[in-house]
Amino acid sequence: MFRHVLLRRNPVKISLNYLRREASNSSSSQGSNSGHEQEDNTKDKLPQNENPINRTLRVLKQDVKSFKDILSFWQDEKPEDTMARYKKLKEFPNHVDIVIIGGGAIGSSIAYWLKSTAQKGLQVAVVEKDPTYSKASSVLSVGGLRQQFSLEENIQMSLFGSEFLRNINDYLGVEGFADVDVQFQPHGYLFLASEAGAETLQTNSKLQNSLGARNVILSPQMLRDKFPWINTEGIALGCLGLEKEGWFDPWSLLFGFKRKALSLGVDYIDGEAVDFIFVNKTQVVSDDPFFSTPQELVVRLPNGTMNTISFSIAIIAAGAFSNNIARKANIGTGKGLLSVPLPVEPRKRYVYCFHSPDGPGLNTPLTIDPSDTYFRREGLGGCYICGRSPEFAEEEPSIDNLDVDHKFFEEKIWPILAQRVKSFENLKVVSSWAGYYEFNTFDENGIIGMHPRHNNICFATGFSGHGIQQAPAVGRAIMELIVYSEFRTINLSKMGFDRFINIEPIRETNIV
Ligand SMILES: Cc1cc2nc3c(=O)[nH]c(=O)nc-3n(C[C@H](O)[C@H](O)[C@H](O)COP(=O)(O)OP(=O)(O)OC[C@H]3O[C@@H](n4cnc5c(N)ncnc54)[C@H](O)[C@@H]3O)c2cc1C
Repeated sequence: MFRHVLLRRNPVKISLNYLRREASNSSSSQGSNSGHEQEDNTKDKLPQNENPINRTLRVLKQDVKSFKDILSFWQDEKPEDTMARYKKLKEFPNHVDIVIIGGGAIGSSIAYWLKSTAQKGLQVAVVEKDPTYSKASSVLSVGGLRQQFSLEENIQMSLFGSEFLRNINDYLGVEGFADVDVQFQPHGYLFLASEAGAETLQTNSKLQNSLGARNVILSPQMLRDKFPWINTEGIALGCLGLEKEGWFDPWSLLFGFKRKALSLGVDYIDGEAVDFIFVNKTQVVSDDPFFSTPQELVVRLPNGTMNTISFSIAIIAAGAFSNNIARKANIGTGKGLLSVPLPVEPRKRYVYCFHSPDGPGLNTPLTIDPSDTYFRREGLGGCYICGRSPEFAEEEPSIDNLDVDHKFFEEKIWPILAQRVKSFENLKVVSSWAGYYEFNTFDENGIIGMHPRHNNICFATGFSGHGIQQAPAVGRAIMELIVYSEFRTINLSKMGFDRFINIEPIRETNIV
């Protein structure tokens, strides 16, 4: 069964052209089969075992029909409408080298990095089901950037995040358009540790500084001197970020990635990825007679029709809902290597915005209590935002909707805030929202790299509450894997899917 491992030899070294050739040979000579029941007539539109000549004629017929559609409207339409119509007809590509499922910060960063590196050498499309991003984690996040992690990979990715934000217009500037402004607030993070967490805090700080972060350990007295508003009861040590840490506007980062990707020629497709169509691979030596691989993505368009797009590599960057897509590729539902699921699920997290007239001022870092309750300023004028993850699995709220539980604030958050900062005894919640963490139940860290069996399926998901700051590094890493067949800047090989098969969790102690 695990002879499939043989197929994993340098999976990303398979050239894109080879994959593309294989895809078209297979679909014309062997036919294709979907691993799933389709909800529509896609199968009718894609005849099985189609003769290559018939296929060419069918495609030509479609093109002629598209042209006829244009011509029939030519006389009644204004030229600009005709152009828009033509663009719409041509909008859906039949084949791309890379299809990215999910156009949030992670998917859009990947699109940007791929296209800016390979330029015309790669055709890249992003399939995004909600172009308003109303439920996307990227826009519902609190935009924190810190190097105060325990894992080298996380520290390095966030160091690059900070470098990227500092020079954002060198990366994402588009000639003739306004600069991207992510409104970075460089006020640092302040992690507070009780006696139990003090040693880990110091060990982590040493590692962080050795890798290029800048933070200091503060005793309770030093904390009180620097931040007179803090109550240090129960606090043994604090760690304060001195530079490269703070928070920013996540929407502006997403917008910047997307605008630049579009300017470089990335196709953004409004539609929901709903399934994969598989192609049998009889030329592959395997002990599995049914060896097949996903080769086309089925996309439901906003008007309800289904369309397919064939690809060389599909990247799953669908945030909290990535596992739904992985399952369509039989990941977690098949046998052998395919029996291991993508361990990502949505976990609802609340953010409360409150006003406290006498609260801490400008010099207030994003402060994290040992209970993992956090708060930070939101602009000036006494406004703050705060949140906390549930302590126990039983406390996890339902994910059916994004409603906010106000009792959670009153019972679990406010008592801690009021104890840590006396002026927070007097506060008023003025607004709130909820979003989904794309929670990796295995080890709460990102999943970056190829699937070991489907070597044309790649993951960039599972960042569990620290993905927005890692978006620049993740995009670059996936680009390196695809273009150079290896990680060139930060070695993220430990963050691949293989760790679920080998049961090798990578633990991050600083999860918030
Ligand atoms: C309350 C909250 C606070 C956070 N705070 C921080 C923080 O301070 N710092 C930090 O670094 N991170 C933070 N995060 C985490 C961060 O927001 C995420 O890790 C990051 O935004 C993930 O980006 P993404 O692009 O993977 O996901 P998303 O932004 O969710 O994008 C995924 C996209 O995929 C689309 N999609 C899903 N399924 C399909 C489909 N089938 N077909 C087509 N499209 C599909 C969705 O519509 C969505 O737009 C926070 C998250 C939350 C919820």
